[in-house]
Amino acid sequence: MHVLVLGAGVVGVTTAYYLSQQGCDVTVIDREHNVACGASYANAGQLSYSFTDSLAKPDFFAQLPGLLLGREPGSRLRIDPRLIAWGLRFLTQCTPRRAANNTIGLLSIAMRSAELMQDFMQTVPIEFSHRVAGKLILLTDKNQLRSARKSCALKRANGCITDVLSREESISIEPALAEINEDFIAAVYSKNDAIADSLQFTNGLRDYLESSARVTFRHSAQVRAIETEQRRFKNVALECETVSADAVVVCAGVGSAELLRPLGIRLPIYPVRGYSVTLPVADASPSASFTALRRRMVIGRLGDSVRIAGFADFVGNRTDGDKQRIQSLLRLARDIAPGAADYSVPDHRPWAGNRPMTPDGRPFVGASTIGGLYLNTGHGMLGWTLAHACAADVAAAVMR
Ligand SMILES: Cc1cc2nc3c(=O)[nH]c(=O)nc-3n(C[C@H](O)[C@H](O)[C@H](O)COP(=O)(O)OP(=O)(O)OC[C@H]3O[C@@H](n4cnc5c(N)ncnc54)[C@H](O)[C@@H]3O)c2cc1C
Repeated sequence: MHVLVLGAGVVGVTTAYYLSQQGCDVTVIDREHNVACGASYANAGQLSYSFTDSLAKPDFFAQLPGLLLGREPGSRLRIDPRLIAWGLRFLTQCTPRRAANNTIGLLSIAMRSAELMQDFMQTVPIEFSHRVAGKLILLTDKNQLRSARKSCALKRANGCITDVLSREESISIEPALAEINEDFIAAVYSKNDAIADSLQFTNGLRDYLESSARVTFRHSAQVRAIETEQRRFKNVALECETVSADAVVVCAGVGSAELLRPLGIRLPIYPVRGYSVTLPVADASPSASFTALRRRMVIGRLGDSVRIAGFADFVGNRTDGDKQRIQSLLRLARDIAPGAADYSVPDHRPWAGNRPMTPDGRPFVGASTIGGLYLNTGHGMLGWTLAHACAADVAAAVMR
C-alpha cells in the first residue's frame, strides 16, 4: 500500500514511521527544503505528558478583559473575522465540564505517547537530546493554586502522578528556583515529564526512514490541491505534476485547513504564534524545566543549551511583530531568571512559529469523510508531546 503524508513536521515524519512499521510504502511531501521547518523547528522541547491542561477553561473568562485591552503581556490579539469565529468556538469550551474532558482526553493521548516513546527509543537508534528532566509549573496566586489542585486530583484519578508542592519543596527539587525573581507560592511537579529536541528527532528519524528504503521524502514541493473522485481520494496536485497513491494523510499543521477547505472539510485550526531563543548553559541553569505560568514562558535545558520559549499571540499569519516579541521574551527571561542561561552571547538563535490550535485543544486524528483521506493535525501547544500516539493511531486507521 502506498500512502502520501502531506507535511514533514514532527507529526508528519512520525506518521511516516508508524505507517512504514505497518508495511506501507510512504512518500512524505513538504513545501520546505527540509523537515521540521514549521512549528517543529525550535519549540520548547517539553514532553509535557502530565501537563495537558486545556487552554480553554473557566478561568479564561477572568483573563478576557485584560487580553482584549492588550494588558496581558503573554498574548497579543489582532481581531479579524477568522479569530472571532474561532474564538467563539473556543469560548464554548471554557465550561468546567468541557475543560475537564479536554484535559483528560489529551492526558490519555499523552500517556500513550510516553509509552510509545520508550518503545521507539529502544528500537530506533537516533540521538535527540532526550532527558527525563521533570517539570515544575510555578503558581503565583491562590486561584492558580486552587485550579492546580483540582487538575492534579483529576489527573491522579486518571492514572497520572503529578503533585502540588510548596515553594520550599520545589526549591529542594530544583535549587535554581531559589535564585529566580518570581514570587511563586507553590508549583505543580511532574517528575516523569521529559525534554527533547524535536528538530533533532525529526532530522534523525528522516535519515533513519530514508535508509529503510520504504519512505521517500520530496521537498520544495508545494501541495496545490488534494483531488478526489466520487468522494474518494485520487491524487495530490503539486506545481507541475500529480502524485497518486492509495491513501493520503494530512499532517500540514497550520496549512491543513486551507488544503481541506475545497473538499468541504472545514477544520477550525488557528495559528497561535509563539517564540523562542536558545542560549548556552550557565552555572546556575536549572536541570528541571520550569514554566512561569503567569508569563506564558518556559525554560528548559536542551542538550548543552537552554531553550526559552513562550507567548501565545493571536495575530493570524502576521510576522511583523516578531522582532519585538522575541526581545520581550528575552528581557522577561533575563529579569526573571538571570542565572538560567548565558545571555551575553551575541546570537540568541531567535525563532517564531505557529501552533496549529483547535478550540478544544484536541487534534484531528483518523479517517475523514472522504475515502482514503486521513487527518493527523491540529496539535496546538502539544504536537511534540502527542506525536507518537497520534501517529500510531492514524497509521492503524489507514490499515483498517
Ligand atoms: C513557541 C512554541 C513552543 C512550543 N512548545 C512545545 C512544547 O514544549 N511541547 C510540545 O509538545 N509542543 C510544543 N509546541 C507545539 C508543537 O511545536 C507543534 O504542535 C508541532 O510542532 C506541530 O507539528 P506539525 O508537524 O503538525 O506542524 P509543522 O511542524 O508546522 O509541520 C507542518 C508542515 O506542513 C508543511 N505544509 C503545510 N502546508 C503545505 C502545503 N500546502 N504543501 C506542502 N507542505 C505543506 C509545512 O511546510 C510544515 O513543514 C510549541 C510550539 C511553539 C510555536
